[in-house]
Amino acid sequence: MTFNEGMQIDPGRVSSGGGPGRGGKIALGGGAGGLIVLVLALLLGGDPGSLLGEFTGAESTATQPGSAAVPSHCKTGADANRYVDCRVVLTAQSLDAVWGAELPQQTGRSYVPPKVTLFSGAVSTGCGRATSEVGPFYCPADHTAYFDTSFFQELVDKFGASGGPLAQEYVVAHEVGHHIQNLLGDSGRAQRDPKGPQSGSVRMELQADCYAGLWAHYADKLPAPGGTQPFLKPLSDSDVQDALSAAAAVGDDHIQKSATGRVNPESWTHGSSAERQKWFLSGYRTGQVKACDTFNASDLGNPSGLR
Ligand SMILES: [Zn+2]
Repeated sequence: MTFNEGMQIDPGRVSSGGGPGRGGKIALGGGAGGLIVLVLALLLGGDPGSLLGEFTGAESTATQPGSAAVPSHCKTGADANRYVDCRVVLTAQSLDAVWGAELPQQTGRSYVPPKVTLFSGAVSTGCGRATSEVGPFYCPADHTAYFDTSFFQELVDKFGASGGPLAQEYVVAHEVGHHIQNLLGDSGRAQRDPKGPQSGSVRMELQADCYAGLWAHYADKLPAPGGTQPFLKPLSDSDVQDALSAAAAVGDDHIQKSATGRVNPESWTHGSSAERQKWFLSGYRTGQVKACDTFNASDLGNPSGLR
């Protein structure tokens, strides 16, 4: 129940894309712990690095224009508290408000909102065709964050109490974090150095986690545009724990250990559970872009915002 109930959902904020694609829905079978962890891995795994690698660059640019497609049951913050698809939309609006204020103030760069597309099954993007199996992802080529809402619903169903609202909002904020990197000209840094515990890819991902934390720092304080209330109610420790549990679940070490029983840092792309939690907290505690400078951090396990 993180949103203030009276917040108004902008009916034009997101577009729809895709439809029943060739790839079909991801199959969630078994209920084995490893599989659940892998699903979470996919959730945050389809980022610029892996996505571009997977779709071999700018081969396809047949992005569908997409019609405005905020689901009709999404009107207010109360709906965002109740329905996960509405939550994605209102989280995007909250991200626009926070970054619209903070990015110019802290960096002198203007904020251009990302496009947000809700899709089902498969979707054509500026980075190629993607299916739900990729999980939520951001495509730098078309400045769009893509979310399969049924994937979120699966997440809620499978994870129940452990998947609180801020866990899902963290995922949206992480993908928009990649958009901020794109606006700041940092999107290419993962491609040049895609794997390993100190790699550009890991630094990109940890920075997106930090930017997600930065959003959370302001989202329960900054008044929404044209109003006096912030988008979020004051975040509780338990809300923050929801985000941290998601950050930990998608740590490379946790995923590897669950899948194979071993940890191999040389193939890391997103960072360890502890690192992901710490960088989220670095952004959350400080609210400062400069506390998210993973590229100049000598020790990724010790963010400047936590010192
Ligand atoms: Zn990412």
